[in-house]
Amino acid sequence: MNNATFAQRDLSVLWHPCTQMKDHESLPLISIKKGDGVFLEDMEGNRYIDAISSWWVNIFGHCNPTINNAIKQQLDTLEHVMLGGFTHEAAVVLSEKLLAVAPKGLSKCFYSDNGSSAVEIALKMSFQSWRNQGNHQKTKFVSLENSYHGETLGALSVSNVALYKETFAPLLLDIISAPSPDCYHREQGESWRNYSIRQFEPMETLLAQRHHEISAVIIEPLVQCAGNMRMYHPIYLTLLRAACDQYNVHLIADEVAVGFGRTGTLFGCEQADISPDFLCVAKGLTGGYLPLAATLTTEKIYQSFYDDYEKLTGFFHSHSYTGNALGCRAGIATLDIFQQQNILQKNKRLAQVMQQAVANFTEHPHIIDVRQTGMIVAIEFVKNKHTKEPFAWQQRRGLKVYEYALSKGVLLRPIGNVVYFIPPYIITEAQINTIAKVALEGIDRAVQN
Ligand SMILES: *Cc1c(COP(=O)(O)O)cnc(C)c1O
Repeated sequence: MNNATFAQRDLSVLWHPCTQMKDHESLPLISIKKGDGVFLEDMEGNRYIDAISSWWVNIFGHCNPTINNAIKQQLDTLEHVMLGGFTHEAAVVLSEKLLAVAPKGLSKCFYSDNGSSAVEIALKMSFQSWRNQGNHQKTKFVSLENSYHGETLGALSVSNVALYKETFAPLLLDIISAPSPDCYHREQGESWRNYSIRQFEPMETLLAQRHHEISAVIIEPLVQCAGNMRMYHPIYLTLLRAACDQYNVHLIADEVAVGFGRTGTLFGCEQADISPDFLCVAKGLTGGYLPLAATLTTEKIYQSFYDDYEKLTGFFHSHSYTGNALGCRAGIATLDIFQQQNILQKNKRLAQVMQQAVANFTEHPHIIDVRQTGMIVAIEFVKNKHTKEPFAWQQRRGLKVYEYALSKGVLLRPIGNVVYFIPPYIITEAQINTIAKVALEGIDRAVQN
């Protein structure tokens, strides 16, 4: 079977995510036959370095032997049982392990099967928690400009990326939006820290004025991933935590993308030394194997739901696959690898190699910014470096980088004109240098004429 034949078969029956399907009249669909560590292999045997961890989910490579074995064993024991009224070992062990490594103060796990649902659950729990305590005023959520929290209507409501949101605006919740600490917009010579502090001022004012009606603030710690991999200083989280405490507002940390080591620490919140009232995790939770998500919360929130049935203060929310045993087992294996193989320590070296690999990129006449937080590197190119004028989005220059990189055996999938690496942690130093070289060549071609 060759790639083109298989792609044709696909296109006659499938509708792909986040895609204008007409693009595939000219843009080849890549038909993947197998995964092997950092590599994906297509039907014709071409191999691609998965520099973006298959949409940021893969942590320890494709077909990782340890995770494969864990799932195989679970499969022959119990594949799934409903979590309403029932429980099983994998769900309990994963919860214990997750709570042991999560920011302190989180004591309960509520499972679902994707990041958007984990966010919906946090929003609903926050709202109902106030209600259960007799507070019916707190009905609003605050989110940041340029944020992304998922695609279902509640999660999309608190998101702020126009491409995903604008069409559906009439259907969405009424949200309070605060300026982003995104340091791309800092003044020349201004530090990330100072800019992030300055950008916190409007948030502080907003909380001071409207806290009576605000249930929670939701934020992506340190990196707004879908929002062009924009980054900010941890001080913003520290200030936000303090203000949420002061004004009696919940803090929801959406670590769906940045959790599990992406920012250099297991969770981004650690760098600000804060604990949220809700922590949402998904993507890397199963090592990139299975759809599993969790919303972690505090004993205080949990207790606000805990009462006699007739009070109707329980959290009446479920998904059929809540706490799926195979997913939980993959999650356990993932956390075990982190611990047993000292991954976060080893990643420090890889992060350094990533930094060195792109160190001179800003010398390029169109590369305006190279930024890094831990294991995430982003390279932004523009039409005019002096005026910061971007290339018109209609020109889709990032797509040219994507196509060039594929031809060189690297999977990069720029967001607009931002090329980024979020590799699996098993990547080698040589492979990092390869993806950096290919990215620069790709950008060089994409900015021509
Ligand atoms: C991907 C993502 C989500 C949504 O997760 P899905 O599993 O795709 O529904 C939510 N929040 C953030 C920060 C994400 O990056």
